[in-house]
Amino acid sequence: MTPVELIALSGCSRPEAGRACSICIGAAEAHVHAVESAGLVVVSAELLDALTDPDECWFDHHGGCQAHGYLSLEPGERCPQAEARELLAALPERTENV
Ligand SMILES: [Zn+2]
Ligand SMILES: [Zn+2]
Repeated sequence: MTPVELIALSGCSRPEAGRACSICIGAAEAHVHAVESAGLVVVSAELLDALTDPDECWFDHHGGCQAHGYLSLEPGERCPQAEARELLAALPERTENV
């Protein structure tokens, strides 16, 4: 299922054959368009998980993350891998989507 189909199905009170109704599909498409026009992107948790290194960061004395190769982080900037791990950790327990 695409992210749009998953979003639509989670809010749909009248699913048809395991798929969201056309009204909820339309609402989910509008939602995803709004997200994308704000410069954000909707990806599946599986994709983010596959792209995220489970290893902890380790920082050199310049503040760069040696573990993940982000060697030129500015003060206050975080390693993108750490941010991705936090996003995954914040997800509610997921039930099987078949
Ligand atoms: Zn619906
Ligand atoms: Zn890192």
